[in-house]
Amino acid sequence: MPRNRLLVATALFSAALALTACTGISAEAPTSAASTPSPASSSSSPSPAASTETSRTTAAAPVVPSPEDRAAPTCVPGVTLIEQNQGPYYTQGAPERTDITDAAPGTALLLTGYVLDDQCNPVAGATLDFWQADGNGSYDNNGYVLRGVQTTDENGAYALTTVIPGQYPGRTEHVHVKVTAPNGPTYTTQLYFPESTANGGDRFYVPELDVTITSYDGSKMTAHFDMVLPA
Ligand code: FE
Repeated sequence: MPRNRLLVATALFSAALALTACTGISAEAPTSAASTPSPASSSSSPSPAASTETSRTTAAAPVVPSPEDRAAPTCVPGVTLIEQNQGPYYTQGAPERTDITDAAPGTALLLTGYVLDDQCNPVAGATLDFWQADGNGSYDNNGYVLRGVQTTDENGAYALTTVIPGQYPGRTEHVHVKVTAPNGPTYTTQLYFPESTANGGDRFYVPELDVTITSYDGSKMTAHFDMVLPA
């Protein structure tokens, strides 16, 4: 994507997030309670089934890009993935799938990228375990909505069909992921969205973990992030 179009897409997304922050869940100052409640706690993060049944919108289904339509891998040898905590809402045993949406509320997001080794070679057969909040900032802690495991192809590529996550108290928009090389180990991190108005108030946010927004038309976003594994 030409740089000027990318800037427009990012600016549009920034404006949309500002609007969301005004009308949706507010982003409060980070607190340990917001980041470390037990998975059983539902006070700050009710399940979508319990809280959003009447307000769901159907996300448009993005088309998984062909290899030639993907953004090229971005990798600097030796500059590897920053690890972050998994937070309180991880659930083991998510189903194997690339589309984790399950009609959860939110704006459609297609996130693509590559898993690479520290010398920028593709890592085929890496496992990616994604989980995230829906567009209203709620996790499904009783089931597997917005949770899924997939494996990179022979080029190290992955593609995740989902929605743009919402903010919840103390947290800006983010997608959690555990990436495991074929013979281990597992690295855990979180991916963020550039220029979100809530990034500055989230103590976990680091710009190195920003996805690159490659398109955004208000109803669908495509974004890219490569995961470079430590040696
Ligand atoms: Fe989270």
